[in-house]
Amino acid sequence: MDYYELLGVRRDASQDDLKRAYRQRARELHPDTNPDDPEAETKFKEITRAYETLSDPERRRRYDMFGEQGAAAGAGTDPFGGGFGNIGDIFDAFFGGAGGGNPFGGGRTGPPRGQDLEVVVDVDFELAVFGGEQSVNVRTAVACETCQATGAAPGTSPQTCAQCGGTGQVRRVRQSILGQMVTAGACNECGGMGQVIERPCSDCRGDGRTIVDKTYTVDVPAGVDTGSTLRLSGRGAAGLRGGGYGDLYVHVRVGSHPRFWRSDDDLVHELHIPITQAALGVQIAFETLDGTEDLVLPRGTQTGRVFRLKGRGVPHVNARGRGDLLVQVIVDTPHDLSREEEELLRQLAEVRGEDVAPADSGFFSRIRSAFK
Ligand code: ZN
Repeated sequence: MDYYELLGVRRDASQDDLKRAYRQRARELHPDTNPDDPEAETKFKEITRAYETLSDPERRRRYDMFGEQGAAAGAGTDPFGGGFGNIGDIFDAFFGGAGGGNPFGGGRTGPPRGQDLEVVVDVDFELAVFGGEQSVNVRTAVACETCQATGAAPGTSPQTCAQCGGTGQVRRVRQSILGQMVTAGACNECGGMGQVIERPCSDCRGDGRTIVDKTYTVDVPAGVDTGSTLRLSGRGAAGLRGGGYGDLYVHVRVGSHPRFWRSDDDLVHELHIPITQAALGVQIAFETLDGTEDLVLPRGTQTGRVFRLKGRGVPHVNARGRGDLLVQVIVDTPHDLSREEEELLRQLAEVRGEDVAPADSGFFSRIRSAFK
């Protein structure tokens, strides 16, 4: 899948274009809009991966040159992160050698770092607004305690590989369109580890790591929204035989609220009032997320009018201050008039000289049948 196509932007899209496109897609694919649609969740992950890559100028450059594999390589800043660190890697990528799949990042020896993990976490609306702690469950790999992550049975230890002398690499000469090339590849004997294990640990079968379910606590910053991604450094999977830990990427999905919805960092509430309050004005004790505030609606308030409570919205994640709370008024026309209420309204219409339908002329039953 092409990342630009996924986000529906041109290849020369600016960072602002990307951000806008991503926000819109993320909202479309929000679970509230797509109940019981597992495809939406998959798509959501895809566009998030696309956005993460393209929003990072360095990764975007690599993606443009080498595609998905290129962008994934060197995503981390850790010493085992790989990436196009030397010329051998670039040749491999061009000539299909390891195809970017060389797990050791080329030229380096030692156990590779574990995978990055991704998880989607559902966050309550108010927690997303004000921030707080959120627990995250993840199935991951941790260092095996039985063998101290060596992979060798207790009492034994891994031996240096005789084939590669412990470097984990063997050099190969091959012919290419550019002439003879020497490339380094992972040693077949030890799989690039530089060490061989004669008696594997029985708990991890020589992997030096075991699969467990873990719960981490994430500090959710105030103001996150659906589509925000939090990176927990070193909370990904453990690498094989003592390789370092990858990172954990937590994709945030914010739940809905019965009274408010978000428009970026503004909160929106639809306030229904009767025609009497709209015409005569009213003071309302209005429940914001920060507590109750007096909201004064003046006489003659029209439906659709928006009242803005400054700074009562969502905190900006990357800046000071908060959005606003927008109260949009909807004037409800009464539809269940009692005899007395109808009489009063007719008097009002008469005083104001307003033409209204007569009370009992069969007019309404004719209207009704016309709409059937
Ligand atoms: Zn073990």
